[in-house]
Amino acid sequence: MISIKRENEIEYMRQAGKIAYDLLMSLKDVIKPGITTKDIDDFAYDFIVSRGAKPAFLNYEGFPASACVSLNDMVVHGIPNKNTKLKNGDIVTVDTGAIVHGYYSDTAYTYIVGEVDKKTAALVENTRKALYKGLSVIKEGVVLNEVCKAIESVARENGYGVFDVLTGHGVGTDLHEDPYIPNLANHESEGIILKSGMTLAIEPMFSLGTKEVWLMPDEWGIVTRDGSNTAHFEHTILVTKDGYEILTGEWKMAKEKDGYIELEGKVLEVIPGGDFKVQLDNGHIVIARVSGKMRLNMIRIYPGDTVLMEVPICDLTHGRIIYRK
Ligand code: MG
Repeated sequence: MISIKRENEIEYMRQAGKIAYDLLMSLKDVIKPGITTKDIDDFAYDFIVSRGAKPAFLNYEGFPASACVSLNDMVVHGIPNKNTKLKNGDIVTVDTGAIVHGYYSDTAYTYIVGEVDKKTAALVENTRKALYKGLSVIKEGVVLNEVCKAIESVARENGYGVFDVLTGHGVGTDLHEDPYIPNLANHESEGIILKSGMTLAIEPMFSLGTKEVWLMPDEWGIVTRDGSNTAHFEHTILVTKDGYEILTGEWKMAKEKDGYIELEGKVLEVIPGGDFKVQLDNGHIVIARVSGKMRLNMIRIYPGDTVLMEVPICDLTHGRIIYRK
């Protein structure tokens, strides 16, 4: 049965969602070559606990960590460990959640470590787009299968593998509630009509190759059978009358065009060499250059200025200042 949440329950889920969102955004500054998957999990545990919440994944059905940390060809459920170090060219998915007053959040994000090949960068970007495409059709009265179809369409356009055994799900007082939400069109989702108050975890997972997976000997990690890279993005959302509310934060805060997003930030300082340190609204710090057009127009930037930035989706640590407010 698909539960409908009351406002006080949704508020707890918002709080749980905000903690998981802040955690994933903070990890952008933590994830770099040389750190271990265990370092990521330690950061996740400390972050969630320091906010007064409980890690949703820790001991869930025996899972031994606060975050699933899955590298490259691992789709989901990677057990963090001290021996696996991130290196340049990896992609790493962190899937995590928090519990506030018994209510769960569930969210995942695939990070690029250093520089990756173009195909992998596109996979990451398109999987994230598929999540937002799936969300874009959500509102009360819509058949769930429309969401599944929207997600699948992005995989089909790009020739990606979609795992039929791994799905999104309802979320609330348990991490996994009804219904299953496959990333493919399916008959079961045809019979489910979305209602406001439903809380769902939507989570496209695509691969550059196969849709077939293996279970690792640790009986948690799931990897692609052909070793191809995989990406995974997930939000916990609330269905509303007119659309949806993301309970795990909006990663993309402004409009998006051709692989770039536009974000507003505040200039913190000038870095020797002419770059600037800019803090975005979500607290994330980006190193930025001034656009050629602004240079030509002799527009100077000073600490304290509010600026509009263009940040490439593939590398959220560097950007370009295109407008001074
Ligand atoms: Mg999930």
